[in-house]
Amino acid sequence: DLPNSIDTALRRRAAQVIPGGLWGHLDAARLPAGYPQFFRSAEGCRLTDVDGHTVIDFMCSWGPIVLGHRHPAVEAATARQAALGDAMNGPGEVLVELAEAMVALIPAAAWCLFEKNGTDATTACVTIARAGTGRRKILAARGSYHGAAPWCSPSLVGVTAEDRAHIIHYDYNDIASLENAVDRAGGDLAGILVAAFRHDLGRDQEMPTPAFARRLRELADQTGAALILDEVRTGFRLALGGSWEAMGIRPDLSAWSKAIANGHALAAVTGAERFREAASSIFTTGSFWCAAVPMAAALATLAELRRIDGPARMLAMGERLRAGLAAGAARHGLGIRQSGPPQMPLMLFEGDADFARGNAFCAAALRAGAYFHPKHNMFLSCAHGPAEIDEALRAAETGFAAAAAIG
Ligand code: PMP
Repeated sequence: DLPNSIDTALRRRAAQVIPGGLWGHLDAARLPAGYPQFFRSAEGCRLTDVDGHTVIDFMCSWGPIVLGHRHPAVEAATARQAALGDAMNGPGEVLVELAEAMVALIPAAAWCLFEKNGTDATTACVTIARAGTGRRKILAARGSYHGAAPWCSPSLVGVTAEDRAHIIHYDYNDIASLENAVDRAGGDLAGILVAAFRHDLGRDQEMPTPAFARRLRELADQTGAALILDEVRTGFRLALGGSWEAMGIRPDLSAWSKAIANGHALAAVTGAERFREAASSIFTTGSFWCAAVPMAAALATLAELRRIDGPARMLAMGERLRAGLAAGAARHGLGIRQSGPPQMPLMLFEGDADFARGNAFCAAALRAGAYFHPKHNMFLSCAHGPAEIDEALRAAETGFAAAAAIG
């Protein structure tokens, strides 16, 4: 039997009945050879693929897993709610409890509505901004990911020019380009959309400069447009009350998803009082948006993150990983750049435009027991402790040796 024989067989079957074998960003064809497509189980910070290989997971389902896979408190809360009901003819009591918890947790939030995916949340923010201002133009940073809908998808295949007619781009952290985009929108500016930090695929991550964040707030205030913060990737990992609270910048609307329910399907929009009326006026819904089980999961997730100060724990473990990777690269004489917040690390090799070193590092580290990503930001969870970080660093050692060997 080949080491990945079950995965290989499943991929062959998938190719027959699933377009392209798999849609979107979880397609393992985008990863170095040897990465499995299919998984059997997950527990804490460990992931087991269908062929039985267990690795320490640094993607965390690409963000949702913030406490660790199958966290006991979250799974107990979902089991209790599941025994009562999930998809009913309206939400459970848990909807009100969760909305209250969100408004209590997030200083910028006066209200909260729930959906399923990050794209639902960013799209609703855009609609609410347009409803509240009676205007059309939305500013977004060039290269920032805000979802897979026609208005924001990174691919233009199947997308019409009309879908993008009212989107104007600026460059992240570039105040002059932001001002220029505001000018171009003129009196038709509905909203300015911005990710909590710059986390574009395959390039160094960038924190927002305080001057850039302040200018966004000023321009939104001057024009009456909504400042929309996309917290889908960052939410509940960097800070519980919002990623820009520490800078003193409060958005008018925020989009949340991923980590909110530790892997259960849920997204949210929170907003300031000024947009409550607009949020009440739009028609937004989905068959599964009021399901009670994911809301119970979210309540338990937020409570646990608060109880253990999850962001601080992930920060400490991210710093431990970062220091260990820096030391490992140095031992092998390899130049690397690590960027972004330690809870969401990215490591790129110097002079590695084609990601050959990054791919070699990841492929070898995977075989040695750690699942890293060569060009997308990774994610820590609260289940990563010092022992697991050190174990992953031993796998990284094998990765560095492989990266050094490719010359
Ligand atoms: N915004 C950001 C910043 C994201 O990272 C993502 C997902 N990667 C989305 C929006 C879209 O979320 P979803 O895939 O759940 O629709």
